[in-house]
Amino acid sequence: MITAYHRPQTLDEALALLTQPNTLPLGGGTLLSQPTSDPVSVVDLQRLGLDALRVKGNDLEIGATCTLQSLLESEHCPQTLKTALKLEAPINIRNAASVAGTLVASDGRSPFASMLLAMDAKITMVSGQTSVVGIGEFLLTRPRALITHISIPLNTKTAFEFVSRTPADKPIVCAVLAQWNSGRTRLTLGGYGKSPMLAMDGTEADGLDTAAQNAYHEANDEWASAEYRMDVAATLAKRCLAGLK
Ligand SMILES: Cc1cc2nc3c(=O)[nH]c(=O)nc-3n(C[C@H](O)[C@H](O)[C@H](O)COP(=O)(O)OP(=O)(O)OC[C@H]3O[C@@H](n4cnc5c(N)ncnc54)[C@H](O)[C@@H]3O)c2cc1C
Repeated sequence: MITAYHRPQTLDEALALLTQPNTLPLGGGTLLSQPTSDPVSVVDLQRLGLDALRVKGNDLEIGATCTLQSLLESEHCPQTLKTALKLEAPINIRNAASVAGTLVASDGRSPFASMLLAMDAKITMVSGQTSVVGIGEFLLTRPRALITHISIPLNTKTAFEFVSRTPADKPIVCAVLAQWNSGRTRLTLGGYGKSPMLAMDGTEADGLDTAAQNAYHEANDEWASAEYRMDVAATLAKRCLAGLK
């Protein structure tokens, strides 16, 4: 339950408020506004000008409060990321939910987080000082700091494949492949667990299906067995390789 609401005008003001106990940044509020028994103070980020989308060299810098829908509608958003965003949430939620809030609240079923992990996104955060961490470290440690923006590379080829219960559901298994001109190839799997999984980060795409299979050997839950996910992950990884663009 939100018991105190702040709307700072500057980043410094927001950071000072966030040092208080039980105080969290408010992005779109789609999750934070859900009823809970725990009292929480929120710091609304909407006046901080953190919603811009900028191309910087080979990267797209996505402001923390940019909504999922604004990102999806951007001419700079890679087509595969658009597909993942449509699966992440229905349009009413996409119009309110921010990219940072979605990443912080994400679990292994998140197509958005799976895409960011494959693209080796960089997360810029402020907590006392500014730091930039790779998405892999971010998902592992889930630091409690204010995210100001997320950068993704625009010079990669990507592919996204998934299976889900219905075409609009979050995937039971999804595979994302990103490949750089250097040959660097990253494969991530989503659809299971607390965070998406990095199945491969190599210099070439050999052994992609085996890596996918191995990564999901314990991916057993109420949605699907590990055997099913292993088979599907290997097939999706091969489809990704065939469909890279
Ligand atoms: C009815 C309903 C129920 C939902 N239930 C769940 C659920 O149980 N689990 C789930 O994963 N998703 C759930 N969602 C999905 C949720 O809406 C998405 O995760 C959404 O994308 C969150 O984005 P937001 O900007 O609205 O986040 P918010 O609700 O604003 O914040 C979500 C989390 O992110 C943090 N945060 C926001 N911005 C920043 C920032 N810039 N830096 C650091 N931290 C930040 C907040 O402090 C909070 O912890 C639900 C959605 C709805 C409508």
